Amino acid sequence: MNAKCILIVEDEQPIREMVMFALAGAGYEVREAADSRQAQGIIAERLPDLVLLDWMLPGLSGIDFARRLKKEELTRELPVIMLTARAEEEDTIQGLESGADDYITKPFSPRELVARIRAVLRRGGPAAENEILSANGLSLDLASHRVSADETLLEMGPTEYRLLEFFMSHPERVYSRSQLLDRVWGSNVYVEERTVDVHIRRLRKALEPHGYDALIQTVRGSGYRFSTRV
Ligand code: CA
Repeated sequence: MNAKCILIVEDEQPIREMVMFALAGAGYEVREAADSRQAQGIIAERLPDLVLLDWMLPGLSGIDFARRLKKEELTRELPVIMLTARAEEEDTIQGLESGADDYITKPFSPRELVARIRAVLRRGGPAAENEILSANGLSLDLASHRVSADETLLEMGPTEYRLLEFFMSHPERVYSRSQLLDRVWGSNVYVEERTVDVHIRRLRKALEPHGYDALIQTVRGSGYRFSTRV
């Protein structure tokens, strides 16, 4: 058996149980911890393949724990998905800079959770180190996940980043909303197509101060395209 091992760190038992049930059903091996200290012990015993980390934990908070994991040699590459309440979403996006790979807002469905885990584990494959995608003055660093416009760093959420990464690696082609859902969100995700529009809007907003929002073009009746041509 080489099932991927997921560690869930969550102080609320009902959520922990729901997650464990969903992940076991999806074929993962699951370990659980109610706080960061317990999690540390479990990680020391055996390194999991991914950590689901609640933001609000008693003792050391999830975000501080994520920071610690990213600092230590052994756990630096360990993917972390933060679990967060809606009200904390803005903070979480900031918090992602501290090392979380993605986040999921509560309440989430088991299917959404499994899809996110798959997507993050897939990304953890052989990384395209040192690769930088660029278009005009816009550049995206695949290793550091930084996006800059004319040397200025741009702030954006993880989904907007993934969308932009996809667009920049597939320029000058039109993608329908459902194709974007498949390629960026993962084919096992059950989200509505208008979710794509929401994230396109956010991505354009992030690019707008430098005028790069024009690169994300709406193709009427078809979908979206990343293009440096007007
Ligand atoms: Ca909590």
